[in-house]
Amino acid sequence: MQTRLIDFSKYSSLRIGAPIEVHLIRSSKDAQECVARGFSLIGKAQNLLISPHAKNLAMLDKEIFSQISIESRENTTNGAQENSVLVGAALSSSKIFSFFKAQNLGGVEFLQGLPGSLGGIIKMNAGLKSSSGQNYEICEMLDSININGEWIDAEKIPFSYRSSGISGVILQACLKKIQGFNDALSKDFLAIRAKHPKMPSCGSCFKNPKGDFAGRLLESVGLKGFSIGGVGFSAQHANFLVNLGGGSFEDALALIELAKKRVFEAFGIMLECEVQIIS
Ligand SMILES: Cc1cc2nc3c(=O)[nH]c(=O)nc-3n(C[C@H](O)[C@H](O)[C@H](O)COP(=O)(O)OP(=O)(O)OC[C@H]3O[C@@H](n4cnc5c(N)ncnc54)[C@H](O)[C@@H]3O)c2cc1C
Repeated sequence: MQTRLIDFSKYSSLRIGAPIEVHLIRSSKDAQECVARGFSLIGKAQNLLISPHAKNLAMLDKEIFSQISIESRENTTNGAQENSVLVGAALSSSKIFSFFKAQNLGGVEFLQGLPGSLGGIIKMNAGLKSSSGQNYEICEMLDSININGEWIDAEKIPFSYRSSGISGVILQACLKKIQGFNDALSKDFLAIRAKHPKMPSCGSCFKNPKGDFAGRLLESVGLKGFSIGGVGFSAQHANFLVNLGGGSFEDALALIELAKKRVFEAFGIMLECEVQIIS
């Protein structure tokens, strides 16, 4: 497999890491090899904390997996012809959003300002709540997913909050073709985004525990705005792990461990990381 040198201190949204050789996935055969060799997958690294010593990394070749087009496919259950949007898993959320908007299609308004590639977005079942409290997640928009070269109906994937249970390599997906871009919803998401910290970050560090908010718990134990070395919890949004400048992998790990300990001691809740750590 070909490799590419990626400097994760520049590539990752948290701006932590070092230059590391990454294997390029150019076919389903490469994908199967990655799974067999236990490689860690990298999308756009918007939700990753990567050690400078990480090894065995792989990513999709974006020259090959960045297509987007409207396709007619046969429904495997009733044989009817249906339209969907075929998207390569290396394509960025902003390009998917722009395509849907230009074609007057709805359903991915929440991808505006949600950074990542389709592969990472599906793996994480990324999403956002609107200001009216309605939850939007990518799983609702999926017809089928190409994992390691095999097309699987999205209904068969055990999606849940920020989890898909997918362990293979996502190569492509068919998204539902829903007529009518929702301009008001798109503006609502933009307004929510405007309140998020602008510093290098990985978005939310912890998943929200059932019926509560990780940000509220972190603030209650005095960690809003608290930092170790160059990494802190944002003073604007407690659950955003931010790089204040020169932050290291070790600083981030120490802060995450401290947060888990304090929240557990105070509330008996074990916070679960949303950020994916590659040691
Ligand atoms: C400023 C900011 C705001 C954010 N806001 C939100 C938000 O509102 N909602 C939300 O849900 N998230 C949010 N995030 C987190 C991030 O946008 C999502 O988790 C996104 O899905 C990450 O996509 P990625 O391509 O960068 O994946 P990466 O961060 O590179 O990887 C994430 C996970 O996906 C896996 N993965 C990547 N590509 C593939 C593939 N092709 N096949 C299989 N597995 C793969 C990786 O192994 C890893 O486990 C935010 C992040 C930032 C920096």
